[in-house]
Amino acid sequence: MIKFQPKIQICRLCAKSTEQTICPDCCETLARIKSACVQCSLPLPSHHLTICAECQRQKNAFDHTICVLRYDHPNDYLITQFKQNRQFAIGYFLTEMLYQKVRVESTNGDRPECIVPVPAHWTSVFQRGFNPAYFIAKILAKKLEIPLVDCLKSKKKHDKQKQLSRKERLKNLNNIYQVNFKIPYKRVALVDDVVTTGATIQTLSALLKKNGVQNVQVWAIARTPK
Ligand SMILES: [Zn+2]
Ligand SMILES: [Zn+2]
Repeated sequence: MIKFQPKIQICRLCAKSTEQTICPDCCETLARIKSACVQCSLPLPSHHLTICAECQRQKNAFDHTICVLRYDHPNDYLITQFKQNRQFAIGYFLTEMLYQKVRVESTNGDRPECIVPVPAHWTSVFQRGFNPAYFIAKILAKKLEIPLVDCLKSKKKHDKQKQLSRKERLKNLNNIYQVNFKIPYKRVALVDDVVTTGATIQTLSALLKKNGVQNVQVWAIARTPK
């Protein structure tokens, strides 16, 4: 009888031998999002607050956001290794964490009918060799057994938006994206790697809703804290 031998690898954080991409000890230390805004998944200090100040002030086009990790150390290092250095094993590992959370939190009643990745401009796909959001979306679609609908397109490459105000950012993004074909679903999960300011998911959710989608959930591996 052939006995299954787990593959021994090196932990991507502490370099110890392990059967996983990241060893159980390091995995424990990854800062997860525990209490967060139900709309945008911004980490919040208290369990009593459910909607952050920004979401109370403005109307979001998306209905709910699920992110698993805080985008700070060492999570940002892992995500960079995946995105910039094409460490796909890390990408799989982080997507598996997101999948576990989505499976629990996205209940059957409003579970999305399809998965739509946040598009990347062709020049960045060319430089990087892949679109991280598409990579994550493809794995989730397979695991959840729902279709991947690659209906969004980035027409223009957008510049760094860090210095801009929220209003300027949204204005900037409005001319960047388009819908490629009619979306045959009403409930959609929009998938990205990291949600930073929320401007991209706001713009894309509004675009999806303009094109007949009724409910947009955003799923991402990490969320930048304030
Ligand atoms: Zn480790
Ligand atoms: Zn919020």
